Amino acid sequence: MTVDIQGVDESEAFNFFGLGGCNEVGRSCHIIEYKNKVIMLDAGIHPALSGHASFPFYDEYDLSKVDILLISHFHLDHAGSLPYVMQHTNFKGKVFMTHATKAVYRWLLQDFVRVTSIGGENRSEGGGGSTDGSSNLYTDDDIMNSFDRIETIDYHSTIEFDGIRFTAFHAGHVLGACMYFIEIGGLKVLFTGDFSREENRHLHAAEIPPTRPDILISESTFGTGTLEPLPELEKRLTQNIHATLTKGGRVLMPVFALGNAQELLLILDEYWSQHEDLQNINIYYASSLAKKCMAVYQTYTSVMNDNIRLSSANSGQKSSPFDFKFIKSIKDVSKFQDFGPSVVVASPGMLQGGISRQLLERWSPDPKNLVVMTGFSVEGTMAKELLKEPHTIQSFVNPELTIPRRINVQDISFAAHVDFQQNTSFIEKVNPSKIILVHGDSVPMGRLKSALLSKYSSRKGTDQEVRVYNPKNCEELKIGIKGIKIAKVLGSLAEEQLIELKKVIEKTIPETNPKIEEIEEMDIDKSKEEVKENAGPIKTGQLLSGVLVAKDFDLNLLQLQDLHEYTQLSTSIVKSKINLKINADISLMKWHLEQMFGYINIINDDEEEWECVVMDIVDIFVDRKKLDALYITVEWINDNLMADSLADSIVAILYSIDSSPASVKLSSNSHNHSHSHVKVENGNGEISLLDKPAHANSEITSRIHRISSLLEAQFGESLQSQGENKAIIKFGKNEAKIDYLSLSVECASKVLRDRIENIIKRGCSLAAPLSQYQKTV
Ligand SMILES: [Zn+2]
Ligand SMILES: [Zn+2]
Repeated sequence: MTVDIQGVDESEAFNFFGLGGCNEVGRSCHIIEYKNKVIMLDAGIHPALSGHASFPFYDEYDLSKVDILLISHFHLDHAGSLPYVMQHTNFKGKVFMTHATKAVYRWLLQDFVRVTSIGGENRSEGGGGSTDGSSNLYTDDDIMNSFDRIETIDYHSTIEFDGIRFTAFHAGHVLGACMYFIEIGGLKVLFTGDFSREENRHLHAAEIPPTRPDILISESTFGTGTLEPLPELEKRLTQNIHATLTKGGRVLMPVFALGNAQELLLILDEYWSQHEDLQNINIYYASSLAKKCMAVYQTYTSVMNDNIRLSSANSGQKSSPFDFKFIKSIKDVSKFQDFGPSVVVASPGMLQGGISRQLLERWSPDPKNLVVMTGFSVEGTMAKELLKEPHTIQSFVNPELTIPRRINVQDISFAAHVDFQQNTSFIEKVNPSKIILVHGDSVPMGRLKSALLSKYSSRKGTDQEVRVYNPKNCEELKIGIKGIKIAKVLGSLAEEQLIELKKVIEKTIPETNPKIEEIEEMDIDKSKEEVKENAGPIKTGQLLSGVLVAKDFDLNLLQLQDLHEYTQLSTSIVKSKINLKINADISLMKWHLEQMFGYINIINDDEEEWECVVMDIVDIFVDRKKLDALYITVEWINDNLMADSLADSIVAILYSIDSSPASVKLSSNSHNHSHSHVKVENGNGEISLLDKPAHANSEITSRIHRISSLLEAQFGESLQSQGENKAIIKFGKNEAKIDYLSLSVECASKVLRDRIENIIKRGCSLAAPLSQYQKTV
């Protein structure tokens, strides 16, 4: 596991977990996790491996956690195991790809099932050769049953799902290939898939997304290698083919059925049209998918580049650039008459079986013939082996047999990937701070990593530092992401800012007299220097207050009254209510409350109900129909802490009236408080009348008594007296020391200290009302 979280909370970290395609080319599949969202990128197979071994390491991850699976393009090393994931694992997420990818994917996978070991017994004609005939990992039915659940995305459109936002951009490479720009909770990630920065005959070059990503997940197929420019490649290809045919040889070009095949056909068709001497020689496009592929390519000219779009438009409805003049499509070798020179563009590209392998075996012994490797050759395949120019090759149809290899081998790769120069200039423009390299063999990938690190070495240790990772399959990579939180200001809160700004503009550029809507459109950074200087309300660092609404990962700041309009949320009032029953009467209760709060507002006093409001916040109701005790309801609106703590104190006081030994009781049967008698019950259970104060001889003692009674009413057993003049209140984690003589409070919590000090003040000022009250007795 690689951990690079630099002191950032681990729960905020971005996790990358490669199930395939890490330090290898093949079976691309990467998991990214951020803020509990899980995205899977691609679900390929390894072309050099067969059966279960060709799949990404799906057993190493709980696929039920995946929210979204994004497929970058139809190549089998990116999409070959998708039917398996959707039909035979606990994956429950959504799957997205572009329209063109989806159209091609279906034919390609059906063909794949037919010719490889994935489909087990389903293989036919030129296929076969599986060493594990029983491995029936998915079937045609799996492809069709999952097909309708694949959702599509257009280039440049953004889909938002469950807090994940992603946009597709052109990646070049093959028809339908896209890069995904993904946003999760403010974090931006660009996944390139396979990409090419060079526009060819039919495809756009990969685009630079308009927004800078934090993390780039990039292919690194060619590492630090350099590719020949396209015009030179084309020239080398056509010259080699022309020379071979002139001396009576045959030319085999193994290709992926789709992708660079179409590009090669465009090149050949054009070359033939310019060379009359070649026009009697046939070019065959040999693939079981040939017809379907052509139909798909003709359908999707709209997402191709201008070369194709314009020539499509000019050629009218009857023909398209893919209606080739010199190329014959054939389904299999049985339709192919092998007399004399010809060119065959045949699938599969890696010569793992099928038509291309059959022809290779047939043509291999003749040194006049030529095989051109036009794509990227994966380690472990016949394509890669041929490049080493072996003396013999193994027969695929009859594994016992070795065949002499005298056919010429040329490596003229049209694999539409970026080379070093193209990749580094792409990275420079995209400008990420973290780069994760995937889709490359260890050596070229390692070289690319070193080259990038040395390129950005001057930024090391600065804010601009670029970090590069090349994780292995199943190696967890954790990257710390410093919290990025941006809230949008909406509604009247935003309007206020605009009005302030309008004032500034009017003052500094009086002639403009802008309207509010115009100011909204204005780019303040580009307007007059004085406006910028004086535009106080929109300066950074200014504080705004409002309601912060979080939806998924979007944060909006607005005023309460705008809440419904902008968020469909509504506000409600939360009222709290406490019912209690105490053994006292209204007069005693009123007296206690007045001792504590000075004035209480009695708003109802009739036969049925008595009601008062304390400090305009808390309502107290008494049900007068019940006579055995005081049935009290305390009610308040929970809109601030103040209300809650006030209600708390009231409830504490009410309870203390009949539970506290230091409380004052009114011994009256009457509800008429003007005729009440007051008894003081001291700690020893003795009762004495207040008009003969027990501690009349000592002002201080009586004050201490008053204060401690009030404190006890508020804090109950939390109040512990410490000798005669001191007390401690233990309240939660806090402790307050009270000195009754100096009237000082020592407490670490300001809130608690303030509260105690207020009670002490109240206690000190009680002398007057208390003696007044005594007189009325
Ligand atoms: Zn690819
Ligand atoms: Zn690939």
